[in-house]
Amino acid sequence: MIKIENLHKSYKMGNNTLHVLKGIDFKVDQGELVAIMGSSGSGKSTLLNIVGMLDLLDEGQYTLDDVIIKDLDETKAARYRNKFLGFVFQSFNLINYKTALENVSLPLYYQGIKRKERQEIALSYLEKVGLKEWATHLPSELSGGQKQRVAIARAMAARPKVLLADEPTGALDTTTSFEVMDLIQKINEEGKTILVVTHEEDIAKMCKRIVRLKDGVIVEDKNVEQVLASKYV
Ligand code: ADP
Ligand code: MG
Repeated sequence: MIKIENLHKSYKMGNNTLHVLKGIDFKVDQGELVAIMGSSGSGKSTLLNIVGMLDLLDEGQYTLDDVIIKDLDETKAARYRNKFLGFVFQSFNLINYKTALENVSLPLYYQGIKRKERQEIALSYLEKVGLKEWATHLPSELSGGQKQRVAIARAMAARPKVLLADEPTGALDTTTSFEVMDLIQKINEEGKTILVVTHEEDIAKMCKRIVRLKDGVIVEDKNVEQVLASKYV
């Protein structure tokens, strides 16, 4: 599903160059649930953004679903992104003046789906995340955990092949974090490939595999005994 070979990425800042990723090799198969771990500044988001086609690599090769991601113009990149990838961020990134239902519907609009069908699909995904009753509420009327569940519903409604989550529990308390991880585990059990960036060990253990970044390289890549989040919710 995802293949990264000898990936390098640097940021230029004035006269200085910060070499963030220094030869990353890794593969993710369909149906995996992978945690990307590492301390703050270790390049986790940089890696996820490259996988998410939000940023470009400097060197190496990235293959997504057998397509080599290279020299795509922005239109084509956007098309692949919409077709293949769903995103969940620490700060939810919901549109504040739109209801939960409208937020979940939006990616379907960009897929050219008609209004009525958009609403039906969006509502079914809100139901999946346990928020059907909250469809007409604005983000400001939802708790942090509910907002993240709306964001997950939005990502899933577009039926991506891969779900990318950057610190999805970073802004949530422990119990709410486990609720969100429980949802992520359930979505993974249905077969979705998911990458979760986190710096929290107990969140990483709820994945099936942990990839650890340090000083720009992968220092550990291991399968783990998955801790079920449902034990804690
Ligand atoms: P993490 O997500 O693991 O905390 P990041 O991938 O966000 O780490 O950042 C890795 C390093 O790259 C950090 O030192 C950060 O300051 C730097 N960095 C990230 N994005 C940019 C950017 N757009 N321009 C310059 N430096 C950046
Ligand atoms: Mg980050």
